[in-house]
Amino acid sequence: MLCNLGALFGAGATTVCLLIFLLYDPRQFFPVLLASGLFGLGYALVPWINRQGCARWAMVQVLTTAYLQLLVITALISSSAGTHLYYLGLALVVPLLFQRIRCRLVAPLVALAAGLFVVSHFAFPPAAAWLAVPSGLLSILFAVHATGTVLLALLIAFFFRREVERAETTSNKLNEKLEELSRTDQLSGLANRRTLDEFLARQWNQLARTQEPMSIAMCDIDHFKAYNDNKGHQAGDQAIRHVADVLSRLAARPGDLVARYGGEEFVVVLSGTHSRGARVVAEKMRRAVKGARIVHGHGDAGEWLTVSLGLSTAIPNSSLTPAALLASADKALYQAKAAGRDCVVANAIGRG
Ligand code: GH3
Ligand code: MG
Ligand code: MG
Repeated sequence: MLCNLGALFGAGATTVCLLIFLLYDPRQFFPVLLASGLFGLGYALVPWINRQGCARWAMVQVLTTAYLQLLVITALISSSAGTHLYYLGLALVVPLLFQRIRCRLVAPLVALAAGLFVVSHFAFPPAAAWLAVPSGLLSILFAVHATGTVLLALLIAFFFRREVERAETTSNKLNEKLEELSRTDQLSGLANRRTLDEFLARQWNQLARTQEPMSIAMCDIDHFKAYNDNKGHQAGDQAIRHVADVLSRLAARPGDLVARYGGEEFVVVLSGTHSRGARVVAEKMRRAVKGARIVHGHGDAGEWLTVSLGLSTAIPNSSLTPAALLASADKALYQAKAAGRDCVVANAIGRG
């Protein structure tokens, strides 16, 4: 791609010079026209070589053509025409042509461009050039070549900048994806323990300031071991995802969070929700899971897959912590299991 662009630039610059000499005096400058035509052909071959799948040879072709052309044309019309200025542009292009900047060829090729610039600058003054070029034409050529070199540098800067921006965008996207992965439980798509802990700490502090309640529901699938043992782990995973969807659907306010706490256990945080409201939400969850009619019936389980929920509510204060609220909800869950499962039990811990 960059090789083709380099060849296109070389062919464009060569055409401009060809036109200048054609318009000025084609007969006097026939050697320059002939040489430029041959080098133009050299550039024209680059896209063709690239299309044959020989990217490396396309690079050799474009670099050989450019290095030789600058030397030959400078020898023909003298360094005062400024053709050799393009060597400086070449020194910038070369590192971009290689995939790795540490490639062994980069430094020698850059050094060669710099060396040829110096050699052609001092070896071909107007007096030593093969063709005598009027000083007016030399000035025009110098202006054209200096402008061309600046354009080449601009082009390189543009592509370099674009590549850097592309790399930045890709890396930002990857970082966002990584961040999301590190916060999400892969099976259920819910928040994981890390996200839950951070959310709890943040909400706890905020609710402590406004003195509003926080309710936590601990939810556990009933007789899930029997379900897994009889229906297989894939069906078990599917059931976990289903329960996760139900819980997320019913706790979707801005201050709510549903997290996967363990294997078949979930934690629902309801910020600003008092105990009565939390019981209504928890009952809805219990009924929605059962209402999905996921066939169970193994072991001591009833016909459908069910969940038990333990609830606890508190208004955050200095003698309480989110961990204590979680432990209280866990205790309530234990009581719900003991009470026969498929039910909601609330455990009082503080005001709320
Ligand atoms: P209880 O009603 O008292 O909660 O009984 P239970 O069988 O649900 O509880 P127990 O803790 O004995 O079993 C939990 C089972 O959950 C064990 C394991 O087979 C299953 N389990 C845990 N994590 C996963 C998971 O990621 N995928 C699947 N498919 N199963 C899981
Ligand atoms: Mg269970
Ligand atoms: Mg469990």
